[in-house]
Amino acid sequence: MTTVRTRIAPSPTGDPHVGTAYIALFNLCFARQHGGQFILRIEDTDQLRSTRESEQQIFDALRWLGIEWDEGPDVGGPHGPYRQSERGEIYKKYSDELVAKGHAFPCFCSAERLDKVRAEQMANKETPRYDGHCLHIDPAEAQRRIAAGESHVVRMKVPSEGICEVPDMLRGTVEIPWDRMDMQVLMKADGLPTYFLANVVDDHLMGITHVLRGEEWLPSAPKLIKLYEYFGWEQPALCYMPLLRNPDKSKLSKRKNPTSITFYQRMGFLPEAMLNYLGRMGWSMPDEREKFSLAEMIEHFDLSRVSLGGPIFDLEKLSWLNGQWLRELPLERFAAEVQKWAFNSDYLMKIAPHVQGRVETFSQIAPLAGFFFTGGVTLDAKLFEHKKLSPDQVRQVLQLILWKLEALRQWEKDRITACIQAVAEHLELKLRDVMPLIFPAITGQASSVSVLDAMEILGADLSRFRLRQAVELLGGVSKKETKEWEKLLAGIA
Ligand code: GLU
Repeated sequence: MTTVRTRIAPSPTGDPHVGTAYIALFNLCFARQHGGQFILRIEDTDQLRSTRESEQQIFDALRWLGIEWDEGPDVGGPHGPYRQSERGEIYKKYSDELVAKGHAFPCFCSAERLDKVRAEQMANKETPRYDGHCLHIDPAEAQRRIAAGESHVVRMKVPSEGICEVPDMLRGTVEIPWDRMDMQVLMKADGLPTYFLANVVDDHLMGITHVLRGEEWLPSAPKLIKLYEYFGWEQPALCYMPLLRNPDKSKLSKRKNPTSITFYQRMGFLPEAMLNYLGRMGWSMPDEREKFSLAEMIEHFDLSRVSLGGPIFDLEKLSWLNGQWLRELPLERFAAEVQKWAFNSDYLMKIAPHVQGRVETFSQIAPLAGFFFTGGVTLDAKLFEHKKLSPDQVRQVLQLILWKLEALRQWEKDRITACIQAVAEHLELKLRDVMPLIFPAITGQASSVSVLDAMEILGADLSRFRLRQAVELLGGVSKKETKEWEKLLAGIA
């Protein structure tokens, strides 16, 4: 019998997402229960958006939760490299193979031509898709053009009619018509593979037997299935997990719910409780108990207990469960966890330089700098009244800064300052006009230690959370404003 091998394949393009941990957890449980292995692969073929910082954050966040992998970029293993950016030659070989077999073809169409085709299709109310323009170029001619250095991509051929039957471990057979599939690009003009090619090649070469992934990938499953068929490879068993949702049933998004695992860490959640809660997403224990450990989940894991109704990721429910965990901790462990969270010497050493010169007794520290030890802060709208700016402008400044900071990957004081400065300049304001707005949002107070240092120390998650809270307090941002302000944002360097 082949060993069960599962994987999580995150793209390191942002904060470590709770959805990644959720899918990782189910893959881990499935593998462990079958005595198999769980692999971590980094899908960083999007060169522009992938960063090493984000990759490291994913490792740290999953480990914090207690999720360990048997093979991966940082632990090695027999099927490496485990980072797609280091596997370029492999994809090239397989792409060439598909072209040679006639399952894929080079496409030389320019972006302008593709835009034009798309616009025409849209005007005719057709689904935009590649029109097959380069499909029939003679292979020898195509080779000549490639040799002459002409820019091209490689596209896969797909059937134009019929139904693809997708075998899903949760839903049974899902039928998807082939005419919904585009002639997917497999290799980009820069010579890097797209998700589709890299994912299939790697799952095969890494011996993955079961793929548990998010439901958002179900509509594109036929393309993966076709690729397995073209290569003549056995396809892994497929399982499309229900998506996490906001309490209003929409897809979990950071606009409505903090989605970064590190946010929950900084808010003072216990990793076991967090993992327990993720295990409750669409799954339940045979005896329906709410509180269980990872070991218990592995022991009782059974995919047939996954329910397809979209699981709701609800902060209140998570907090309740966390409370259960906290209350049942032995007192000593409770105290130790509190210490580990924020009352440790590393954290105090970061704060000390900013409070030492401002207090006469230790007992003045909490009133001065208590906000270092809270999640949000109690906000007072009065603190946001501004001499020069109208309330609408105040909201706009804060929202633009928040967006800028949401995109900031290296959370350092100088970079934070640069973001704020860029927004201020774009709005023809001075740094000293906007800082008095940042200050109360972050500290909840009219005066305290330097706010830029405080932001660096608090970290990205809590700083962003507090700015978001401030924007909400001041009335939030309407859909119309979001559109207008996003345009403004695009113009800020
Ligand atoms: N890189 C993809 C992601 O970030 C992997 C999806 C899959 O599991 O195939 O979600």
